[in-house]
Amino acid sequence: MNIRNFILIFLSLCFICSCNNGNEVRKETKQVSVHSSKKPKTIHVYFFEGFNETLGKNTIEQLKQVFDSVVFEGNLPYPDSAYYAPRNRYKADKLVKHLRKLQGNSSELVIGFSPRDIADKVHGYDDYGVMGWTRISIHSSAVSTHRLKDKSRQQKDFLKLVLHELGHADGLPHCKHSDSCYMKDANKKNHFPGLNGFCSHCESHLKKKNWNL
Ligand SMILES: [Zn+2]
Ligand SMILES: [Zn+2]
Repeated sequence: MNIRNFILIFLSLCFICSCNNGNEVRKETKQVSVHSSKKPKTIHVYFFEGFNETLGKNTIEQLKQVFDSVVFEGNLPYPDSAYYAPRNRYKADKLVKHLRKLQGNSSELVIGFSPRDIADKVHGYDDYGVMGWTRISIHSSAVSTHRLKDKSRQQKDFLKLVLHELGHADGLPHCKHSDSCYMKDANKKNHFPGLNGFCSHCESHLKKKNWNL
């Protein structure tokens, strides 16, 4: 090999190496910028008066595996305006609006845990008892343990109920993709024992909302 060829080969190798280094740098820069643009997800939780503290605190610990920050905002009296005397229960829509007012007009999710029955206008009735209620436009939810009668499953079912309503609060409709998805419509009964997670469709929506799934 003469000296001219040697220099040419040497320069080509330098060029290839510098290209590879350039790719590595670009890749690292991209990873860092994706990571730093991730907004931490915060959930604000209130307990309406009389809520089982152990159940509530355990649920908050479980939610911390899904959200960056879960803040317990304290115990809360029911607003008088939400009480519906004829059925001795509370209007769910008034509760979620009350929660949002307390938490300010933020885009962060807020949820209230209720031991008392909640109900609202749905399924053609003016006052229909529900396990959970969400107003998507204000990212606010209320959930009730009143209809989760089986104490042996209450902790598990309550977490599924909470995740279902928070899924609504972050924009998901009821799921049409899987019968075992947390976002499946309860269809007037406690269907939680048959649910085992978010389906891939719902999961990809929630991951974009910074849920740690
Ligand atoms: Zn629902
Ligand atoms: Zn789904």
